[in-house]
Amino acid sequence: MLTTAMVSIGLITAVDHVSEPTQVEASVALKGGKWASSTITYSINPGTESTIANAWVKAANEINSYQVIKFVKTTNGEVKLGQKNTTDQTELGITSAWLRGSTYSRAEAYLTSSQSLKNREGRNYAQRQYATALHELGHVAGLKHDSCPSGVMYYASRSNVSTIDKEYLAALVKLYGTSAAKTTGKVTSTQAPSLDKSSSSQKGVVQVSYKPGYGINLWKSFGTNWTGRRLVHGSKWKYFQVVTVNGKTWYNLGTNQWLDGAYLRKI
Ligand SMILES: [Zn+2]
Repeated sequence: MLTTAMVSIGLITAVDHVSEPTQVEASVALKGGKWASSTITYSINPGTESTIANAWVKAANEINSYQVIKFVKTTNGEVKLGQKNTTDQTELGITSAWLRGSTYSRAEAYLTSSQSLKNREGRNYAQRQYATALHELGHVAGLKHDSCPSGVMYYASRSNVSTIDKEYLAALVKLYGTSAAKTTGKVTSTQAPSLDKSSSSQKGVVQVSYKPGYGINLWKSFGTNWTGRRLVHGSKWKYFQVVTVNGKTWYNLGTNQWLDGAYLRKI
Protein backbone atom coordinates (compact mmCIF):
# COMPACT_ATOMS: atom_id res chain seq x y z
CA MET A 1 0.00 0.00 0.00
CA LEU A 2 1.34 3.40 -0.92
CA THR A 3 -0.40 6.47 0.36
CA THR A 4 0.00 10.18 -0.17
CA ALA A 5 -0.80 11.05 3.43
CA MET A 6 1.58 10.67 6.32
CA VAL A 7 -0.52 8.09 8.04
CA SER A 8 0.64 4.66 8.96
CA ILE A 9 -0.95 2.15 6.69
CA GLY A 10 0.81 -1.16 6.39
CA LEU A 11 0.90 -3.38 3.41
CA ILE A 12 -1.63 -6.11 3.15
CA THR A 13 -0.39 -9.59 2.58
CA ALA A 14 -3.08 -12.11 1.87
CA VAL A 15 -1.98 -15.58 2.86
CA ASP A 16 -3.76 -18.41 1.08
CA HIS A 17 -6.76 -16.23 0.46
CA VAL A 18 -7.03 -15.02 4.05
CA SER A 19 -6.28 -11.33 4.33
CA GLU A 20 -3.81 -10.52 7.03
CA PRO A 21 -2.97 -6.84 7.43
CA THR A 22 0.45 -6.12 8.83
CA GLN A 23 1.93 -2.85 10.05
CA VAL A 24 5.56 -2.60 9.27
CA GLU A 25 7.93 0.33 9.24
CA ALA A 26 11.53 -0.80 9.04
CA SER A 27 14.44 -0.20 6.71
CA VAL A 28 13.50 -2.14 3.61
CA ALA A 29 12.68 -5.35 5.38
CA LEU A 30 11.66 -8.53 3.67
CA LYS A 31 8.17 -9.90 3.88
CA GLY A 32 9.40 -13.38 4.68
CA GLY A 33 8.31 -14.82 1.38
CA LYS A 34 9.66 -14.82 -2.14
CA TRP A 35 9.06 -16.30 -5.54
CA ALA A 36 10.56 -19.69 -6.26
CA SER A 37 12.26 -18.30 -9.35
CA SER A 38 13.84 -14.91 -9.95
CA THR A 39 11.88 -14.84 -13.21
CA ILE A 40 8.35 -13.72 -12.41
CA THR A 41 5.61 -13.60 -15.01
CA TYR A 42 3.05 -10.83 -15.03
CA SER A 43 0.09 -9.72 -17.05
CA ILE A 44 -1.81 -6.47 -17.29
CA ASN A 45 -5.50 -6.87 -16.53
CA PRO A 46 -7.83 -6.26 -19.50
CA GLY A 47 -9.35 -2.79 -19.44
CA THR A 48 -6.42 -1.18 -17.65
CA GLU A 49 -6.02 2.39 -18.88
CA SER A 50 -2.91 2.96 -20.95
CA THR A 51 -1.15 5.36 -18.56
CA ILE A 52 -1.39 2.78 -15.79
CA ALA A 53 -0.41 -0.13 -18.05
CA ASN A 54 2.57 1.92 -19.21
CA ALA A 55 3.57 2.71 -15.61
CA TRP A 56 3.56 -1.00 -14.74
CA VAL A 57 5.62 -1.97 -17.78
CA LYS A 58 8.10 0.90 -17.29
CA ALA A 59 8.53 -0.01 -13.61
CA ALA A 60 9.02 -3.70 -14.42
CA ASN A 61 11.64 -2.78 -17.01
CA GLU A 62 13.44 -0.52 -14.54
CA ILE A 63 13.63 -3.32 -11.98
CA ASN A 64 14.69 -5.79 -14.68
CA SER A 65 17.58 -3.54 -15.68
CA TYR A 66 19.46 -4.49 -12.50
CA GLN A 67 19.30 -8.13 -13.53
CA VAL A 68 18.50 -9.50 -10.10
CA ILE A 69 14.92 -10.47 -10.86
CA LYS A 70 13.11 -10.43 -14.16
CA PHE A 71 9.45 -9.57 -14.66
CA VAL A 72 8.29 -11.17 -17.90
CA LYS A 73 5.05 -10.01 -19.50
CA THR A 74 2.72 -12.80 -20.56
CA THR A 75 -1.00 -13.19 -21.19
CA ASN A 76 -1.67 -15.06 -17.93
CA GLY A 77 1.03 -14.16 -15.43
CA GLU A 78 1.59 -15.19 -11.84
CA VAL A 79 1.24 -11.50 -11.05
CA LYS A 80 -1.87 -9.64 -12.19
CA LEU A 81 -1.38 -5.90 -12.52
CA GLY A 82 -4.22 -3.51 -13.00
CA GLN A 83 -6.13 -0.55 -11.69
CA LYS A 84 -8.93 0.16 -9.32
CA ASN A 85 -11.09 3.02 -8.28
CA THR A 86 -10.93 3.93 -4.67
CA THR A 87 -12.94 6.06 -2.33
CA ASP A 88 -9.78 6.71 -0.31
CA GLN A 89 -8.10 9.58 -2.08
CA THR A 90 -4.83 8.94 -0.29
CA GLU A 91 -4.51 5.44 -1.62
CA LEU A 92 -2.29 5.20 -4.66
CA GLY A 93 -1.71 1.48 -4.87
CA ILE A 94 -2.14 -1.82 -3.16
CA THR A 95 -0.53 -5.22 -3.40
CA SER A 96 -1.67 -8.62 -2.25
CA ALA A 97 0.41 -11.76 -2.40
CA TRP A 98 -0.55 -15.33 -1.70
CA LEU A 99 1.89 -17.60 0.04
CA ARG A 100 2.31 -21.34 0.12
CA GLY A 101 4.76 -21.84 2.93
CA SER A 102 7.30 -19.11 2.25
CA THR A 103 6.85 -19.19 -1.52
CA TYR A 104 4.55 -16.86 -3.41
CA SER A 105 2.03 -18.58 -5.60
CA ARG A 106 0.42 -15.48 -7.03
CA ALA A 107 0.06 -11.76 -6.48
CA GLU A 108 -2.15 -8.89 -7.50
CA ALA A 109 -1.32 -5.22 -7.51
CA TYR A 110 -3.37 -2.18 -8.39
CA LEU A 111 -2.74 1.45 -9.08
CA THR A 112 -5.57 3.84 -8.41
CA SER A 113 -7.12 4.90 -11.70
CA SER A 114 -6.28 8.41 -12.83
CA GLN A 115 -9.93 9.18 -13.28
CA SER A 116 -10.72 8.80 -9.60
CA LEU A 117 -7.52 10.57 -8.63
CA LYS A 118 -8.30 13.56 -10.82
CA ASN A 119 -11.83 13.79 -9.53
CA ARG A 120 -10.82 14.43 -5.98
CA GLU A 121 -9.88 17.95 -4.90
CA GLY A 122 -8.65 18.60 -8.40
CA ARG A 123 -5.27 17.20 -7.48
CA ASN A 124 -3.43 15.22 -10.05
CA TYR A 125 -1.78 12.14 -8.69
CA ALA A 126 -1.29 10.59 -12.12
CA GLN A 127 2.33 11.71 -12.08
CA ARG A 128 2.88 9.38 -9.15
CA GLN A 129 1.79 6.26 -10.97
CA TYR A 130 5.27 5.23 -12.06
CA ALA A 131 6.74 5.73 -8.56
CA THR A 132 3.81 3.81 -7.12
CA ALA A 133 4.30 1.01 -9.64
CA LEU A 134 7.97 0.69 -8.57
CA HIS A 135 6.80 0.57 -4.94
CA GLU A 136 4.06 -2.02 -5.48
CA LEU A 137 6.34 -4.24 -7.57
CA GLY A 138 8.76 -4.10 -4.64
CA HIS A 139 5.98 -5.57 -2.48
CA VAL A 140 5.25 -8.11 -5.21
CA ALA A 141 8.90 -9.22 -5.14
CA GLY A 142 8.83 -9.58 -1.34
CA LEU A 143 9.91 -6.21 0.06
CA LYS A 144 8.35 -4.42 3.00
CA HIS A 145 8.50 -0.71 3.68
CA ASP A 146 11.56 1.46 4.03
CA SER A 147 11.78 3.65 7.13
CA CYS A 148 13.61 6.31 5.15
CA PRO A 149 11.23 8.93 3.66
CA SER A 150 13.37 9.31 0.54
CA GLY A 151 13.13 5.61 -0.24
CA VAL A 152 10.99 4.19 -3.02
CA MET A 153 9.69 1.67 -0.47
CA TYR A 154 8.63 4.35 2.01
CA TYR A 155 4.90 4.05 2.63
CA ALA A 156 4.16 7.59 1.46
CA SER A 157 4.84 8.59 -2.09
CA ARG A 158 7.20 10.87 -3.91
CA SER A 159 6.48 11.77 -7.50
CA ASN A 160 10.04 12.53 -8.60
CA VAL A 161 11.28 8.97 -8.61
CA SER A 162 13.02 7.70 -11.72
CA THR A 163 14.83 4.62 -10.47
CA ILE A 164 14.80 2.16 -7.61
CA ASP A 165 17.30 3.00 -4.87
CA LYS A 166 20.25 1.22 -3.26
CA GLU A 167 18.22 -0.13 -0.34
CA TYR A 168 15.59 -1.50 -2.70
CA LEU A 169 18.24 -3.17 -4.85
CA ALA A 170 20.09 -4.53 -1.81
CA ALA A 171 16.86 -6.09 -0.54
CA LEU A 172 16.24 -7.71 -3.92
CA VAL A 173 19.78 -9.09 -3.98
CA LYS A 174 19.31 -10.38 -0.44
CA LEU A 175 16.19 -12.25 -1.52
CA TYR A 176 17.21 -13.51 -4.94
CA GLY A 177 20.99 -13.25 -5.02
CA THR A 178 23.05 -12.99 -8.14
CA SER A 179 23.60 -16.54 -9.21
CA ALA A 180 26.62 -17.76 -11.15
CA ALA A 181 24.27 -18.92 -13.86
CA LYS A 182 22.88 -15.44 -14.29
CA THR A 183 26.34 -13.93 -14.42
CA THR A 184 27.45 -16.43 -17.03
CA GLY A 185 24.29 -15.73 -18.98
CA LYS A 186 25.23 -12.09 -19.22
CA VAL A 187 28.71 -12.81 -20.51
CA THR A 188 27.45 -15.21 -23.11
CA SER A 189 24.89 -12.66 -24.05
CA THR A 190 21.29 -13.80 -24.12
CA GLN A 191 20.21 -11.83 -21.05
CA ALA A 192 21.53 -8.53 -22.25
CA PRO A 193 21.33 -8.43 -26.03
CA SER A 194 21.59 -4.65 -26.07
CA LEU A 195 25.04 -4.89 -24.54
CA ASP A 196 26.24 -7.58 -26.87
CA LYS A 197 25.41 -6.10 -30.23
CA SER A 198 28.98 -6.12 -31.46
CA SER A 199 30.15 -9.39 -29.99
CA SER A 200 32.33 -10.04 -33.02
CA SER A 201 34.67 -7.31 -31.84
CA GLN A 202 34.81 -8.48 -28.22
CA LYS A 203 37.91 -7.32 -26.41
CA GLY A 204 37.48 -8.88 -22.99
CA VAL A 205 35.36 -9.21 -19.88
CA VAL A 206 35.19 -7.01 -16.80
CA GLN A 207 33.51 -7.69 -13.49
CA VAL A 208 31.83 -4.99 -11.44
CA SER A 209 33.79 -4.67 -8.21
CA TYR A 210 32.07 -2.19 -5.96
CA LYS A 211 30.00 -3.25 -2.96
CA PRO A 212 27.81 -6.33 -2.49
CA GLY A 213 24.19 -5.41 -3.08
CA TYR A 214 24.99 -2.21 -4.95
CA GLY A 215 25.36 -1.30 -8.59
CA ILE A 216 27.44 1.14 -10.58
CA ASN A 217 26.11 3.59 -13.12
CA LEU A 218 26.13 2.78 -16.80
CA TRP A 219 26.81 6.04 -18.63
CA LYS A 220 26.00 7.22 -22.13
CA SER A 221 29.34 9.03 -22.17
CA PHE A 222 32.27 9.40 -19.78
CA GLY A 223 30.61 10.05 -16.44
CA THR A 224 27.81 12.19 -17.80
CA ASN A 225 24.38 11.38 -19.10
CA TRP A 226 23.32 8.37 -17.07
CA THR A 227 21.51 5.64 -19.00
CA GLY A 228 19.17 5.13 -16.05
CA ARG A 229 20.70 1.73 -15.55
CA ARG A 230 23.01 0.31 -12.89
CA LEU A 231 25.02 -2.87 -13.14
CA VAL A 232 25.10 -4.89 -9.98
CA HIS A 233 28.25 -5.75 -8.01
CA GLY A 234 29.76 -9.03 -9.18
CA SER A 235 28.15 -8.99 -12.63
CA LYS A 236 30.38 -9.60 -15.64
CA TRP A 237 30.30 -7.73 -18.92
CA LYS A 238 31.94 -7.90 -22.28
CA TYR A 239 33.73 -4.73 -23.31
CA PHE A 240 34.67 -3.61 -26.78
CA GLN A 241 36.83 -0.57 -26.22
CA VAL A 242 38.96 1.02 -23.50
CA VAL A 243 39.43 4.77 -23.42
CA THR A 244 41.43 6.94 -21.04
CA VAL A 245 40.02 10.40 -20.38
CA ASN A 246 41.84 12.77 -18.03
CA GLY A 247 43.60 9.86 -16.38
CA LYS A 248 40.40 7.85 -15.91
CA THR A 249 39.75 4.59 -17.68
CA TRP A 250 36.39 3.90 -19.29
CA TYR A 251 35.13 0.64 -20.68
CA ASN A 252 32.67 0.56 -23.55
CA LEU A 253 29.98 -2.13 -23.44
CA GLY A 254 28.63 -1.32 -26.87
CA THR A 255 27.24 1.82 -28.44
CA ASN A 256 27.04 4.70 -25.94
CA GLN A 257 27.34 2.47 -22.87
CA TRP A 258 30.31 3.24 -20.62
CA LEU A 259 31.53 2.05 -17.25
CA ASP A 260 34.05 3.73 -14.95
CA GLY A 261 37.15 1.50 -14.76
CA ALA A 262 37.62 2.40 -11.07
CA TYR A 263 34.82 -0.02 -10.19
CA LEU A 264 35.81 -2.83 -12.50
CA ARG A 265 38.32 -5.62 -12.55
CA LYS A 266 39.40 -7.47 -15.65
CA ILE A 267 38.81 -11.19 -15.67
ZN1 LIG B 1 3.62 -0.08 0.51
